[in-house]
Amino acid sequence: MRDELIAHEATVLLVDDEPTNIQALAHLLRGDYHIQVATGGAKALEIATGDTPPDLILLDIVMPEPDGYEVCRQLKADPRTQDIPVIFVTGRNTTEDEERGLDLGAVDYITKPFTPTITRTRVRNHIDLKLKTDALERLSLRDGLTGLPNRRALDQRLTEEWHRAQRDGTPLSLVMMDIDHFKAYNDDYGHGAGDGCLRRVARAIAAVPTRKADRVARYGGEEFIALLPGTDAPGARAVAERFRATTAELGLSHARSLTSATVTLSVGVATRAPASDRAADPGSLRDAADAALYAAKEGGRNRVVEADPI
Ligand code: GH3
Ligand code: MG
Ligand code: MG
Repeated sequence: MRDELIAHEATVLLVDDEPTNIQALAHLLRGDYHIQVATGGAKALEIATGDTPPDLILLDIVMPEPDGYEVCRQLKADPRTQDIPVIFVTGRNTTEDEERGLDLGAVDYITKPFTPTITRTRVRNHIDLKLKTDALERLSLRDGLTGLPNRRALDQRLTEEWHRAQRDGTPLSLVMMDIDHFKAYNDDYGHGAGDGCLRRVARAIAAVPTRKADRVARYGGEEFIALLPGTDAPGARAVAERFRATTAELGLSHARSLTSATVTLSVGVATRAPASDRAADPGSLRDAADAALYAAKEGGRNRVVEADPI
């Protein structure tokens, strides 16, 4: 049952310049997987880097340029495709051929004429491994308590968006948020209630940003962070204020909060233009937002403070 569920979600790309070879493999695998086909290396690379990349590639070696070795080399050199497992399916069956293929990063090597049952089993094993690896990768980027992206996911994204902003000449904003007097909340209401509070706040603030590229993450303990690509300082200030107001409006009782009788959020916001600020890096944007958050705490909490522009 589990295998069936997994198998039907997976896609296999068949690459061979000989259509009859593709037909034979497609016939063998089409009951278990979505099948994509390419009769040349260039087309294979196009599909692999496209919107619906395969989970596994069965790659012929001897083809007009680029041949299978070259296609494999390019796949493994590109961060977008390097994690897609490649199996060479080829008539070349010397030890040197096989060594060369595996050296290039292929996970397996099947010689033609292939044995249907063995080919099917090998494909299933590699697909199984790939889907498990993908699932682990997804898990490692999520916070278990709130379901939001975690710090690792956000830091990865920040680096990507920083480079994009550098290329496009667009601004990039970062918002750091920290729940006020949360230690007292845990002490008074218990850790379970504290966890519930974190979930409520997380759900509320995650619903605030409206742009597709915006990301809200749990950065640690009672600290959240939002990445707002293409957003200038006035825009980021407005979003930051909505994070603060939305949390206050939840009206979650917090009797010993010295700020108000409810759960509140202190917020620091910073904006940078990476293209015109070559000396800066993602860390400097984070530090600026962090310093602003600290100032919001010092200034009395339940407020938004903007970092100085540089
Ligand atoms: P401040 O207004 O200065 O931010 O004060 P604070 O009490 O919120 O800050 P402090 O850093 O002293 O305490 C943070 C508290 O957050 C302490 C910790 O027990 C709680 N906390 C961190 N992670 C979790 C969590 O996953 N669940 C629960 N329930 N509490 C957590
Ligand atoms: Mg706090
Ligand atoms: Mg804190």
